[in-house]
Formats: sequence, C-alpha cells, structure tokens
Amino acid sequence: MDIDIDQDVCIGAGQCALAAPGVFTQDDDGYSTLLPGRENGVTDPMVREAARACPVSAITVRERTA
Ligand code: SF4
Repeated sequence: MDIDIDQDVCIGAGQCALAAPGVFTQDDDGYSTLLPGRENGVTDPMVREAARACPVSAITVRERTA
C-alpha cells in the first residue's frame, strides 16, 4: 500500500507513531514522517489503524492495484 502524510494538515499529535511505530516516526518538529525505507509497499495492518487514529485525517492509505 502507499502511504501519504499531508504535512500541511498534520498537527504533530503523534498518534500515528504510537499506533504503528514500525512505520511512522516524528521529525524534530514533532510532525509525522515515515521511517526510512517505508515510503511505499508497506503491508503493516497497523498502518490502517494509524490512519484511523490520526485526529486530523492527515494520513491517506491506498491499496496498490497492480
Ligand atoms: S497522528 Fe496525524 S496529526 Fe498526529 S503526528 Fe500522525 S499524521 Fe500528524
């Protein structure tokens, strides 16, 4: 799946890093970012949980169709 984080929407709540610490982390300013090598092709089911947990819906998860 592909993961997109809208940095303009993110408020740095950190829920995504709590829900899926193997995929999301927070940068020096507290905003969400993906861990290196996790930019695409992630299948961790916790990613969906992280997207749901985000209070401002900054995370978009898309299944790959091919
Ligand atoms: S849960 Fe949402 S608002 Fe909080 S750090 Fe993650 S992307 Fe940003």
